[in-house]
Amino acid sequence: MALIKPSMLPPLTLETMHAVLCDCFDCVKARVDATPVDPTASWFDRQLPFQRMFVCPHCGNKRCPRAKNHNNRCTDSNAPGQPGSLYEGCK
Ligand SMILES: [Zn+2]
Ligand SMILES: [Zn+2]
Repeated sequence: MALIKPSMLPPLTLETMHAVLCDCFDCVKARVDATPVDPTASWFDRQLPFQRMFVCPHCGNKRCPRAKNHNNRCTDSNAPGQPGSLYEGCK
């Protein structure tokens, strides 16, 4: 088992701070994936962080590509099927 030394953790930069605080889908998913799985938690419990609507912090549209990942450009649009958005496959 590998020991995790503090020196191995990424330095606390704006970028890593952002990843801790950001509410976009990819950051929430990364935080959930990084959390050790509680063996007593049900599948439903583990899905709870995703039982919500992810919206773009800028325009508030759920179909904006930025709701999926903060690196995506905000399109200020709720049009279906936008590339990179959570609803890319939904027409
Ligand atoms: Zn993010
Ligand atoms: Zn947006």
